[in-house]
Amino acid sequence: MHILLVEDDAHLGDAIQRALERLGYTVSWLRDGRSASSAIRDRTADLILLDLGLPGRDGIEVLTEARRARIETPVLVMTARDGLSARVDGLDAGADDYLIKPFHVEELAARIRSLGRRMRGLAINRMDVGALSLDLGTSEVTFRGEAVELTRREFSLLQALMENAGRLVRRESLENSLYGIDHVVGNNALEVLVHSLRRKLSFETIRNVRGFGYMIPRDPK
Ligand code: CA
Repeated sequence: MHILLVEDDAHLGDAIQRALERLGYTVSWLRDGRSASSAIRDRTADLILLDLGLPGRDGIEVLTEARRARIETPVLVMTARDGLSARVDGLDAGADDYLIKPFHVEELAARIRSLGRRMRGLAINRMDVGALSLDLGTSEVTFRGEAVELTRREFSLLQALMENAGRLVRRESLENSLYGIDHVVGNNALEVLVHSLRRKLSFETIRNVRGFGYMIPRDPK
């Protein structure tokens, strides 16, 4: 999952980015409202963590503009403890959830998982696709009933494909969700990752639509 983090506090932004990357998320960190607006318009993020007090353009403006442009990306607003009215404004402007600063990273991670479930219309952390199952809470993956050890990136790739089971996922979209927008991706980084994931599962589990992307069938066996 590709998260756009918008936070002008260097210390806090750095701590959030590191913590989320440790959990396997791809994080693009922006520090002002204007660059946030333009990144949101690109629609490359799966979820946005938005501070409200930002230089350039405040978070409420950023959010209002995005919703007006019918950008439905889930937004979690991060506000200061005394910011009750800011919080209400945030929800009114179209935020999906909010967190009061200071917060624990565990709580942030739980809210992100919960928004992710809502995006997929699920009530639980587990995804089952045919013989594959993946648990977002514990990061456990099983295939044909056996536990499979995956690296963080393999896990993220599998998650992105399982969320779209039966549909082609374009390579640009996979690269973006795995490596983020600023990352320079080697030409065959994705192929190498698919190769290693296929070795751990089975070759047929991940289909290659040459030049376009990859897919997992609706009912992998
Ligand atoms: Ca701020």
